[in-house]
Amino acid sequence: MPIATDHDRIITVLPEHLIDQIAAGEVIERPASVVKELVENALDARATQIDVSIKQAGAEEIRIVDNGMGMSPIDVPTAILRHATSKIRSAEDLETILTFGFRGEALAAISSISHLEIVSRRKLDDGATMMFWEGGTRTDSGAIGAAPGTSITVRHLFYNTPARREYLRAPTTEIKRVIETVTDFAVYHHRVGFSLLVDDKPALQVAGTDKMTERVSDLFGDRIGEMLVPFSGGDAELGVSGYAGKPELSRSSRDRILLYVNGRRVWSQSLQHAATNAYGETIPRGRYPFAVICVSVNPRRVDVNVHPTKREVRFAHDRAVYDIIYYAINKAIFSSPRTAPVLELKPSYTAPQESERLPFPPIIDVAPRVEMNDPGSCGSAADNLEAWLSLPVQDSAVVPDVVGEPGVPAPTPPVEDDAFVPRPSAQVADISNFWQFRDLYIVTVVGEELWVIDQHTAHERILYEEILRKAMKRKPETQRMLFPESIDLESREWTVYEQAGEILASLGFEAREFGQRTVLLEGIPTGLRVKNPVLLFRRILEDIEIAKRGGEDQLKAAAASAACRSAVMSGDRLKAEEMQALFARLMHTENPFSCPHGRPTMVKIPIFDFDKKFCRA
Ligand code: ADP
Ligand code: MG
Repeated sequence: MPIATDHDRIITVLPEHLIDQIAAGEVIERPASVVKELVENALDARATQIDVSIKQAGAEEIRIVDNGMGMSPIDVPTAILRHATSKIRSAEDLETILTFGFRGEALAAISSISHLEIVSRRKLDDGATMMFWEGGTRTDSGAIGAAPGTSITVRHLFYNTPARREYLRAPTTEIKRVIETVTDFAVYHHRVGFSLLVDDKPALQVAGTDKMTERVSDLFGDRIGEMLVPFSGGDAELGVSGYAGKPELSRSSRDRILLYVNGRRVWSQSLQHAATNAYGETIPRGRYPFAVICVSVNPRRVDVNVHPTKREVRFAHDRAVYDIIYYAINKAIFSSPRTAPVLELKPSYTAPQESERLPFPPIIDVAPRVEMNDPGSCGSAADNLEAWLSLPVQDSAVVPDVVGEPGVPAPTPPVEDDAFVPRPSAQVADISNFWQFRDLYIVTVVGEELWVIDQHTAHERILYEEILRKAMKRKPETQRMLFPESIDLESREWTVYEQAGEILASLGFEAREFGQRTVLLEGIPTGLRVKNPVLLFRRILEDIEIAKRGGEDQLKAAAASAACRSAVMSGDRLKAEEMQALFARLMHTENPFSCPHGRPTMVKIPIFDFDKKFCRA
């Protein structure tokens, strides 16, 4: 071995304070990370009140005061040492960890890059211990009078790591992250009171409550709190529970899908996806729900130690967690009333049993009825209006009987005969209650609310469910065309046709091969009224192909396509009774609040909102 002296040494072990500083970079990225670590410590110390305050976006000062269990005089100086923790003792403990902390890193990291002050007192002690550090070196200590609990003040964060300071964003961004951080804790830990002061001004203040919904209302507003549906699923080993916001609360970003695993806020694209998917077509593509999802899992089945700030977790069974979240939320959303039940039953109305699964009872107690040769109500604008009006509202089992005329059979659709004119029954609620705006929006008053309905999406929803219901029951209904049309398909269309023939037949299309790449279209689904059946047929082929490429349900896509292309359009002028019938039928659908593509069918404005606008208390 060649001889070497100390002179030849270029490798040395880094001094402790430098190690801490480097390590701090991983845990403490910004003021919000300090807040996160310190609030976690307060929660671990079983605090019931946590008060946070920041000054100058946290650059000047971050303070967290809690009423938790405090520290003894000999523990305070130990707390800031690297790998000093009271939360685990052995490797086995690590497997069953239920506290936020266990790495013993946060205080060491924070103290190495700031001016730190800790004041802490246990209940059983007479007074508090106070200590100061600068860059991890103790500068002062003493005893002081203070309430039980711990107060930690971090001043001049990153004062000795200028690169970090440079990396910070605009103050408003940093403040926003602090608010988000405190909010994330506050949602889940609803029994704990939280407050946040930003430059001495209150940014958030919530008192402890037993109910998470109440906490959500306090944080995000009553409107949101009232539109939450509870859900739960799984078992003791792996369970989920929480609250799913109604589809109307959907938003353009994912940031209100709040996911917690054993109380720890985590981020997971795949689980956010599970939650969003669970809403199916009730929210449009590109929009995301409001949801609070709490996963509780045996700590042995989850690894929280995959990320220094524990933002991500790893499950032993990822797929199982995905499925449990998906089914729990899906069930909750599709079995709950989708809006406040504002409609009232009339005393004379007896709802058929099946309608109990409807979101709420219909206001209008009758299906639109048809009578022959009534000259008074002819001459509606669009061609197809009569067709959809004249159809039975639903399968006869679901159609409420006409009040006072029990046993009147559901009218048969007079599809081919334009002399058939719709006429609502005399029993129907007041038709003067319907107005049309811009030949597109139907305006009506329901209880204390003004409802605005998009006539196209609403009609789409109605037709979609009718077509699908018949298809599912394998009872498609076909209206034969007077003059069958032959269609020369392009080769792409032909391929789709060959594969999707059964789907088309199940919807009620009647078509048969008629030579090379030519089909003869002989009938289309009953209830569709289109000027150009050939175009409709081609469009549906196109939409089936798109659905197939996207891995979506082809039958549903075809039904949605047919509904969309034969629904009343924007620009179709409707008569009051037509609007009324449309409304009644919409209310009988399973999902009256969105069209098959997820666009809303209606918006509602409570009178309360008008009162506010007109400054009526
Ligand atoms: P960890 O939380 O991973 O244990 P920290 O560096 O965050 O590591 O904290 C070190 C120790 O200091 C904790 O284990 C705990 O015993 C003590 N401690 C920190 N903050 C508080 C507090 N607010 N109340 C009581 N004890 C605290
Ligand atoms: Mg900690």
